[in-house]
Amino acid sequence: MINAKLAAKSHLNHQTIIKLTDKVAFGGEELVIIGGPCTVESPEQMEKVAQQLAVAPVQGLRGGVYKPRSSPYAFQGMGEEGLKILADVRSRYNVPVITEVMCISQIEIVATHADMLQVGSRNMQNFDLLKALGQAGKPILLKRGLAATIEELVMAAEYILSHGNPDVVLCERGIRSFDNYTRNVLDLGAVAALKQITHLPVIVDPSHAVGKRELVAPMAKAAVACGADGLIIECHPEPEKSVSDARQAISLEEMVNLVHSLKPIAAAVGRNISTTTGAGLEPTPIFCVA
Ligand code: PEP
Ligand code: MN
Repeated sequence: MINAKLAAKSHLNHQTIIKLTDKVAFGGEELVIIGGPCTVESPEQMEKVAQQLAVAPVQGLRGGVYKPRSSPYAFQGMGEEGLKILADVRSRYNVPVITEVMCISQIEIVATHADMLQVGSRNMQNFDLLKALGQAGKPILLKRGLAATIEELVMAAEYILSHGNPDVVLCERGIRSFDNYTRNVLDLGAVAALKQITHLPVIVDPSHAVGKRELVAPMAKAAVACGADGLIIECHPEPEKSVSDARQAISLEEMVNLVHSLKPIAAAVGRNISTTTGAGLEPTPIFCVA
């Protein structure tokens, strides 16, 4: 029994809806699909991403500007300059943006540029950060730690909730295991369990889970089939040239196709995929459905 006073479901139909914008919400009938590169690299890159994903359509754009890299010598992200790029596409395409916050001192600036703040796996148990996010005034995307139990994830959410922020979306992104053929192991059992344990929306990141682009689409479909409230997927105008996580990035065309191919699966589990972007544009399905 998990002692989560605020995150636990109080009855079978207890489901929190978390608004990202006036048009986009997590936890309702419509799934929230978020796409974009691992890292914001340039204004041109994000322009292409926003332009092409607007026809998918996706409901949110992602892109890291403060990057938690395994090596201190690897590119650490564009920082404030990257936030400005995100804010620019956000306002011109009227699409919400999600980006990672790594420490307390970044919260204020990230919250003024982005619609949702991501807590990455490496920070899931950075309790001081979680407490501070209780006062961030923006929804939080809380990713499961690299080797965190379901209970630890729920209790990490409890930290944010108990410090004043009711808007927490959980994200299963794969956990470490003995087999390194895939980067991590996507724990879809955790998605089903979390949906039963908590009233918080749960989304899936198949990209970091599998680490190989050819495995992203099947896992995205499986995630929708098992009840996820949305997806966050890494895609890039030139996937092989991504400055980080290149091996798992899919192309923008593949992303558009994937969104279309999710529709019948969503329908089979009583959900649907929005046909409008945050801007309310009618999408033109220019790519054939796989
Ligand atoms: C990311 O979203 O780019 C990222 C670093 O994710 P995670 O924290 O799940 O590894
Ligand atoms: Mn990444």
